[in-house]
Amino acid sequence: ELLSNRIAAGEVVQRPASVVKELIENSLDANATDIVIQIEDGGRELIRVVDNGSGMDRDDLLLAFEQHATSKLFDMEDLTAIKTLGFRGEALASIASVSRIDARTCNNDMGEGFRLLINGGKVDRLEGAAMKRGTSIAVRNLFFNTPARKKFLKSANAEYRHIVEIVRRFALARPNIRFHLSANEKDVYILPPEDLSSRLNRIFSKRLTENCITVHEEEPPLTLKGFMGTRELVRRKSGEQYLYVNGRLVTDRMMNSAVYAAYGGHLDKGEFPFFVLYLSLPPTEVDVNVHPAKTEVKFRSEWQIYQFIRRSCEVAMKEWTGDSS
Ligand code: ADP
Ligand code: MG
Repeated sequence: ELLSNRIAAGEVVQRPASVVKELIENSLDANATDIVIQIEDGGRELIRVVDNGSGMDRDDLLLAFEQHATSKLFDMEDLTAIKTLGFRGEALASIASVSRIDARTCNNDMGEGFRLLINGGKVDRLEGAAMKRGTSIAVRNLFFNTPARKKFLKSANAEYRHIVEIVRRFALARPNIRFHLSANEKDVYILPPEDLSSRLNRIFSKRLTENCITVHEEEPPLTLKGFMGTRELVRRKSGEQYLYVNGRLVTDRMMNSAVYAAYGGHLDKGEFPFFVLYLSLPPTEVDVNVHPAKTEVKFRSEWQIYQFIRRSCEVAMKEWTGDSS
């Protein structure tokens, strides 16, 4: 089986929110504990992500924007054991080819960093820059050189909402990490490092968190934890459902249907419950065949995972009393 078949290719950059996603993933992969996201005009004018991660040296900074340059996959045979969020090495190169980049990075405590300017994929300038350890990547004028794609961008407000949703997904995935999102210099989220339930409280309304039941089951090596909404939170449209596998947000039919099965008769046709659930299992048990736009997973023992999720949610459901409407 060819490696290229296993790594789903495709367009990395569809809209400002996809840029935000890739930049945050890189910050997390660099072990950042503090991530600042600044956007202007729904990300169409500016997207800047600043982290306090490992940073890069001069050569890595240049390499980072080359196609298929990744520092993350050491064993190309073993795509099943990927622990980082990125591994294709195409995000920054793709983003750089359709925007103006100002990237700054420093990997030492002496404050000796570098700044790289790229214009539509062409390196403009590389110079020294004094800064603290970490990386700051500013993406300006997305699609300035591809008018056809630029035309497909939605209004600033619509693109803004997509970005908020992306940041929210990461914030839920990593409550221990500080996130700060601002739009047009106004704060949207300031999230200190905290535990999962207080992160949930900070992101969602009180009504939502008050109407959740806790899920927490362990059957080594499997763990499922998180929250399931009660009847109060049933919606007519989907969207407020978050499934994480080993800290990575996924879309998975099987996992969804296991949760729905646990709701059983409490859900009518065309109704969608709210839930945030985290599944942990050994990395070798799951194949993260990541498509740039959506994340699909393949489990080695699907049936076992299905049963485990369903059982765990059913245990939690038993605590859901006094609501049978
Ligand atoms: P991938 O994440 O798939 O490796 P990217 O194009 O997203 O590919 O990034 C290319 C490389 O640039 C990464 O492998 C990493 O070495 C480096 N890099 C990107 N962003 C950061 C960051 N915020 N901090 C440190 N290194 C980074
Ligand atoms: Mg990446």
